[in-house]
Amino acid sequence: MKEIIYLLDLDPKMEKEVYSSIEKISKILKKKGLKLMMSPPKCRSCGFEFYRVKASKCPRCKSQRIQEAIFVIR
Ligand SMILES: [Zn+2]
Repeated sequence: MKEIIYLLDLDPKMEKEVYSSIEKISKILKKKGLKLMMSPPKCRSCGFEFYRVKASKCPRCKSQRIQEAIFVIR
């Protein structure tokens, strides 16, 4: 199965809009039998997972080596 991966570099102010867009996209994909999955941003130093789309600094180890959120459609 083909996978489409998006790497996002978002303005934090855009986050709400992005979430509502993701919801809409998710519904459309569902009708087509596809699934949208999000892998949240992750700290590269300690592995901390964020619960938001955009993250810049790890609250646990203060590292700024953050891996961006990844969206996968399958
Ligand atoms: Zn960390």
